[in-house]
Amino acid sequence: MDQAQDFLADLSTALGLDAILITDPSVLVSYSRDQAPTATNGRPIALLFARAEAEVAIALKTANAAGVAVVPRGAGSGLAGGANAIDGSLIISLERMNAILEIDSVDRIARVEPGLVNLDLDKAVSEYGLAYLPDPASRDWSTIGGNVSTNAGGMCCLKYGVTGDHILALSVALASGEVIRVGTRTLKGVVGLDLLHLFVGAEGTLGIVTEITVRLADRRIERATLVANFDSIGDAARAASAIRAGGTSPSVLEIMDRTTLAAVEAWHPMGLTQSTALVIAQFDTEIDSASQIAVTACLANGAIDAVASTDPADSADLLAARKMAYPALERLGAVLLDDVCVPLSKIAELVVGVERIALANEVMIGMFGHAGDGNMHPTIVYERGDELAVAKVNTAFREIIALTHSLGGTASGEHGIGSIKCSAAEFELGDRIVGLQRQIKSVFDPNSIMNPGRKFSLG
Ligand SMILES: Cc1cc2nc3c(=O)[nH]c(=O)nc-3n(C[C@H](O)[C@H](O)[C@H](O)COP(=O)(O)OP(=O)(O)OC[C@H]3O[C@@H](n4cnc5c(N)ncnc54)[C@H](O)[C@@H]3O)c2cc1C
Repeated sequence: MDQAQDFLADLSTALGLDAILITDPSVLVSYSRDQAPTATNGRPIALLFARAEAEVAIALKTANAAGVAVVPRGAGSGLAGGANAIDGSLIISLERMNAILEIDSVDRIARVEPGLVNLDLDKAVSEYGLAYLPDPASRDWSTIGGNVSTNAGGMCCLKYGVTGDHILALSVALASGEVIRVGTRTLKGVVGLDLLHLFVGAEGTLGIVTEITVRLADRRIERATLVANFDSIGDAARAASAIRAGGTSPSVLEIMDRTTLAAVEAWHPMGLTQSTALVIAQFDTEIDSASQIAVTACLANGAIDAVASTDPADSADLLAARKMAYPALERLGAVLLDDVCVPLSKIAELVVGVERIALANEVMIGMFGHAGDGNMHPTIVYERGDELAVAKVNTAFREIIALTHSLGGTASGEHGIGSIKCSAAEFELGDRIVGLQRQIKSVFDPNSIMNPGRKFSLG
């Protein structure tokens, strides 16, 4: 028997006969990639559909003893290649560990398994009049474990914070098979170093998250929606910065460019194409004047028109249009979505610079994103299978990150490093910090079996 067969035999024995351990190549293929088109993937040995924390721990202990790499997987909706299979690896899917273990409306917390879909948690807690706020556009199908491991953002995180701001405690199975618990059930807690937030955003490189305690909030009601049309994406970005500077505290502040609007319109006609760029903002406070202050900020920054509405149907339509941005661009060809983040004062320079990069490299770039927190999604669209185009796409992708760095920004605001931004992350962090982070990794995963090569080759 070769090494892989030895490992599989050991794993089957350790897990027991009823474990859902798959080696069928056709199933393995469909669990070997996430949604990043340019990320490479290897061939795994097997896929385990874990059903309990104990199974995760046993699988990790066995893989650690055999030196087999482990790739944790939620829904595979990631955009950085972080859940892609590595040659000779074991994929551990958490999708069947999807139970809600507890909802406590007095303590305002919920305890869940990692494979629970984000929206399913929000629906369940809504019965108690509460909300789980982190709202990635993939919330209908991405898992809370994946959201924790990428520290996912979303539209309302501008006002309410990213996933990590809503996580109170985690259980994590380490490479050795030991399960540790970090954080507290309380809403505050400062005892010891903050290990909890080491695991938030770790992209599966430090251990597998097996249980999550989240903070619950009051449900939000959108009270006013603003939409403003502009002749240029630069003006739209300046207006978005002005809205933020105006002290109105929008709960959503998004921007879309002409390419993106045309893609949405071609899919679902909504009369959006009269505009070269659009700003959408929402307000969930009682202050009626907030949306009017935002209208004024738009008009003062070159808006052709700007209107605020309190009609819930308008709000739903505009948000639907924004949520369609990525799938609408996907309909035009292969897409490489970026998620760079710049200081608020630099958004206009970023978007104008990205337009220049598109022209210089002769590539189509649709631009949309969270203008309220500087996290933009320049999305490069190209013909599927066109190798020449891929070279141009990669150049444009690198140039967008370099531009972001020159503006004091960061290579990833929410999607993570995965396997597609390792060199950008190493450049951004510098040797000293990368070295320190590798030392931290070796404490939790001395044999470097946890998603090796991901997150700037951590390990
Ligand atoms: C249409 C679309 C819209 C999107 N919108 C947003 C958005 O608005 N905001 C945003 O932030 N992202 C967005 N994303 C990206 C993606 O949905 C998020 O990164 C999401 O958090 C990934 O969750 P997942 O369950 O699919 O995880 P996966 O893609 O399966 O995994 C992501 C990473 O986490 C690791 N991982 C997964 N589960 C665990 C676990 N239990 N323990 C340890 N490691 C684990 C994996 O190894 C991998 O490195 C979008 C993606 C798509 C396709």
